[in-house]
Amino acid sequence: KALTYLLLFVLVISLSACNLAETTGGSESQGYVGIAMPTKSAERWVADGNNMVKLFEEKGFKTDLQYAEDVVENQIAQIENMITKGVDVIVIASVDGNTLTDVISKAHDQGIRVIAYDRLIRNTEHLSYYATFDNFQVGVLQGSYIEEKLGLKEGKGPFNIELFGGSPDDNNAYFFFDGAMSVLQPYIDSGQLVIRSKQNSMSQIATLRWDGAEAQKRMDNLISAHYSNERIDAILAPADSLSLGIISSLKGVGYGSSNNPMPVITGQDAELSSIKSIVRGEQTQTIFKDTRQLAERTVAMVESVLSGTEAEVNDTESYDNGKMVVPSYLLEPVSVDATNLEEVVIDSGYYTKEEVGLK
Ligand code: BGC
Repeated sequence: KALTYLLLFVLVISLSACNLAETTGGSESQGYVGIAMPTKSAERWVADGNNMVKLFEEKGFKTDLQYAEDVVENQIAQIENMITKGVDVIVIASVDGNTLTDVISKAHDQGIRVIAYDRLIRNTEHLSYYATFDNFQVGVLQGSYIEEKLGLKEGKGPFNIELFGGSPDDNNAYFFFDGAMSVLQPYIDSGQLVIRSKQNSMSQIATLRWDGAEAQKRMDNLISAHYSNERIDAILAPADSLSLGIISSLKGVGYGSSNNPMPVITGQDAELSSIKSIVRGEQTQTIFKDTRQLAERTVAMVESVLSGTEAEVNDTESYDNGKMVVPSYLLEPVSVDATNLEEVVIDSGYYTKEEVGLK
């Protein structure tokens, strides 16, 4: 009998301990956030994921961070899993912004709120917010850099240029391209810039999944078809992953020496390997998008969504996803080259001098 009482006592104590743990956990946690990122293959998404987990956890949220390795089906399965786990909000940087309509409907039916992160998600009316950078401005900064470096405003030229685009399933790719062309098109029309391949539309220049190897292959083909007797002076590359592939191709045919310098070549994301490339004098420019700021914005949006208040937005017209105009916050991108690299990416604490290889 004593043993039965003892067992009962132990049972009661452990049940109440369990209960206590649940309530403590529940009242301590500000909410449970699923974070669906596209891939670890570009450094930026790794930084984005880490920044968000750190910030959310500092504020008392629980997180579930997943990477889809750029495979649409993986991302959908990961989001379904988050729904099953009972998250309150899902933050998504999509692999393909056209493929998430159904899974977001499922989330919505469970009362889960969704925030589009960096990339717009198309064809759904169930987005609370979109946190991103001014994507058109990214393109303007790339185009203006080429304009300035070649002295196009001063009437110099003609120069040979080739254009590269981002992934055709990423809404951002069109904004980057349109922004850049808003600066470059007049010079193409006037003949100051010449595209020898004549490939000038997104359908001809896009690079599926932002794949650097694919960009390298296309650059190889462009060089052998159009540049055996001509110099290439500038390349519009929308992101660092492509820039590095293009640079490998150019080096392969002898660019990058004192009598055959690299063309002006743009980029985006200020990835460490591209910052080092700029320090070495190979890549010319990149666009710094401070992923720490984007994470902060997103955390603020999640907090608003869960507390029933309105998050701060600064754009309510640019991002129509086919079903709704998504209330957005656009952060400022910053152009970086050898002249301001230290000030922008080192003084801000994004990288250390040692990481970058500067003394
Ligand atoms: C992002 C860029 C990134 C690219 C490739 C775009 O959606 O906005 O920052 O370079 O994806 O990962």
